[in-house]
Amino acid sequence: MSDYDSSSEPRRDLVGLDRAGLAEEMAEFGAEPFRVRQLWHWIYYRGATDFGDMTNLAKGFRERLAARYALGRPEVTSALASSDGTRKWLLRFADGQEVETVHIPEADRGTLCVSSQVGCTLNCTFCHTGTQRLVRNLTPGEIVGQVMLARDRLGDWSGGLAPQGAQQGAPEAAAAPKEGGRLITNVVMMGMGEPLYNFEAVRDALLIVADNEGIGISKRRITLSTSGVVPNIARAGAEIGVMLAISLHAVRDELRNELVPLNRKYPIKELLDACRNYPGLTNAKRITFEYVMLKGVNDSLADAKALVKLLKGIPAKINLIPFNPWPGSRYECSEWEQIEKFSEYVFSAGYSSPVRTPRGRDILAACGQLKSATEKLSARERMALRAMAMTD
Ligand code: SAH
Ligand code: SF4
Repeated sequence: MSDYDSSSEPRRDLVGLDRAGLAEEMAEFGAEPFRVRQLWHWIYYRGATDFGDMTNLAKGFRERLAARYALGRPEVTSALASSDGTRKWLLRFADGQEVETVHIPEADRGTLCVSSQVGCTLNCTFCHTGTQRLVRNLTPGEIVGQVMLARDRLGDWSGGLAPQGAQQGAPEAAAAPKEGGRLITNVVMMGMGEPLYNFEAVRDALLIVADNEGIGISKRRITLSTSGVVPNIARAGAEIGVMLAISLHAVRDELRNELVPLNRKYPIKELLDACRNYPGLTNAKRITFEYVMLKGVNDSLADAKALVKLLKGIPAKINLIPFNPWPGSRYECSEWEQIEKFSEYVFSAGYSSPVRTPRGRDILAACGQLKSATEKLSARERMALRAMAMTD
């Protein structure tokens, strides 16, 4: 589909506009105010990509809209599907920049892992994204667009518009919703980038995703993961109100300074104080602490004990994530037995962790040698993703 109409005027993309933005745009366009709600419904509830499908709008109005506006999606440059159902899309935006979006299906949920930036300005030493130069922040439309594209490809829109994947013969269309449920029930901001360094765009996008007359994924099922941008944690609590995940990974400042260099600016104590002040925390609404298991680095029993002590008093969950190595990475994933010991301790202290769930064996296997040459996503990558996605 061309981005230009016959008069070569660039068409403005409506995807990514919030209610106020859409209302403003439509007022300028000369549409009656009640049209805003109808358009919102078509764009974000039904997933329309063609104004021609908007059958409750007059034909002339649809044509005028189509001449002036677009309902775009990022381009899929590669789609990988794994035997366990995990799907990874490489998406390209209009300027050629690319990010990843991953769908992780489980029996009781489907989690979409969404990117917030192209690359990342932070340089966590175990993270591949950290080796890439930040190219730019994503716009709200590019962030919401990842969720919308995934809904297209999975055939996961309400209201029965034909899944785009089916039209294009994409394999995703074969994924049947479980027991009539949705394929995307949860969103985690755990793809590329640091969401709290692209605050406004992430906020605006997540409020669109949570709108219950649109995409409708409740804030309880959206998790924002941060490496610890302390001043923006309070802002996220006040202005977004989604669930929070903290990439902790170490219990001592000395080690965390090395793994997550942002710790030099915002050390562990300040980070945990910000967590304690995060609004609405209860045992039913906890902060997830992510802890990547690095062999001989942060995986001792003493670390497990210190972790439990450190989190005392904070309604917390602990997600142990098997390290997913990448070419040139300086770490190894912890031994299976060590992850079991670590998780055993954490479990006995009252924290469940993904490696203790029925999928835990699979997750632990990720640290073994179960990589199959025929898998397009390595077992380790899939399991690291699975562990990250277990946020509720
Ligand atoms: N920038 C944010 C969100 C994106 S990273 C953050 O750092 O929280 C999402 C999670 O993946 C973080 O917990 C991050 O520490 C973890 N992660 C990054 N690289 C990893 C790897 N190679 N193996 C396992 N987990 C990794
Ligand atoms: Fe990677 Fe997150 Fe660290 Fe950025 S902040 S380098 S995305 S782990």
